[in-house]
Amino acid sequence: MPGLPPGVGHDYGELLRRWRELDGSSGLIVRTLCEAGGHPVLAVESERAASGEPGGLYLSAGVHGDECAPVWALLAWAEGASAILRERPVVILPCLNPVGLLWNTRLDGDGIDLNRCFENGSHPVVGTWQGFLQGRRFETAINLHEDYDASGIYLYELTRGESAGDALLAACEGIIPRERAGEIDGSPFANGLLVRSTEIEQVVAERLGGFPEAAYLFLKHAGTGYTFETPSELDLTRRIAAHLAFLEAATAC
Ligand SMILES: [Zn+2]
Repeated sequence: MPGLPPGVGHDYGELLRRWRELDGSSGLIVRTLCEAGGHPVLAVESERAASGEPGGLYLSAGVHGDECAPVWALLAWAEGASAILRERPVVILPCLNPVGLLWNTRLDGDGIDLNRCFENGSHPVVGTWQGFLQGRRFETAINLHEDYDASGIYLYELTRGESAGDALLAACEGIIPRERAGEIDGSPFANGLLVRSTEIEQVVAERLGGFPEAAYLFLKHAGTGYTFETPSELDLTRRIAAHLAFLEAATAC
């Protein structure tokens, strides 16, 4: 399976090594954004993104450390996406929560759920991340997650235009079928898809108590936002393949 050497789903050192190998190749620039719990947090840019060109893609994984398929799928995507990386501005956050990945926990090293505090600039990683993104605009932001309660794939889509979510799920459902539940975490889903265009701040305030990465990006930096989820109890190889299929479909638009 591309992306995952056997037995290293939570091996952050291996993840760092593989990303750093990409520095300078495929037009990618791999930098240390900051440290978290003594571990480097990487930020990766294509040359067009580094030169300040607006638009393009924002891709992120590893915000919740017990959801390890996305970090390896994102790496595998970058290792094979040389044309997109040459031709478009692309910003990649390979793993914003390295301690969580190493410990196989949702929370970061201080017990904080990063995905409920992306508005909080006083958090050291979030504050640095906000500064890194200052002034940047993306066509599409993609956040990759997993869900241990789910039995199928599902997608939160935040958009100001036409929904593409159903077609994106269709590109992945041959690997893992769609979640059939009509409600996930208190939100109504239809055939694995929830589309929202408005009232993002209201939903965050009433249901979440803090900003997920996707909501913050949609309000400040991105035209469209996708949060793609796989069931984390399923076979890891299939989960990685589903995330890779999602990335390939969503970045081909
Ligand atoms: Zn998650």
